[in-house]
Amino acid sequence: MANRRHSSRHVKRLRTYNVREAAKATGSTPGTVRHWHKSGLEGVAGVYPLIFRGVDIIAFLKRRDDDRKRPCGPGRMYCFRCKVPKRPAFGEVEFWPDGPKLGTLRGLCPDCAATMNKRASLAKLLAATGDLTVSMRCAESRLIGTPKPSSNSHSERG
Ligand SMILES: [Zn+2]
Repeated sequence: MANRRHSSRHVKRLRTYNVREAAKATGSTPGTVRHWHKSGLEGVAGVYPLIFRGVDIIAFLKRRDDDRKRPCGPGRMYCFRCKVPKRPAFGEVEFWPDGPKLGTLRGLCPDCAATMNKRASLAKLLAATGDLTVSMRCAESRLIGTPKPSSNSHSERG
């Protein structure tokens, strides 16, 4: 089953939700909400059936999101197919600059061979790549704004 992403976007902080309502507001199922309850989503104390405060649901989902988004450490890139940070295949990445200071690191997932991208600034390149081998790539640089000096030596004759 796909790991569907649940959103707290439609959850109102000041509302309370029973299991069914919480499921609806987050785009999940009552079973999932009960599972959340077991894994840390607190219900209103002493009330049964379960009632959740919107603010708790939002905080719970945010916590889960943060866990998922934890930054990849040095030398790691996030594979969107495997959904985990990985060390790129062969310990190699390419850096493709797309501006004077910014660029994209590109590596291959060792397990599924998907391309993993990571935005990085030149200044933080070392921190982002750790002990990986980085090959610098030059974006096809068309020298815009540096016209050749005019070599127009012949003049038009009438
Ligand atoms: Zn992968």
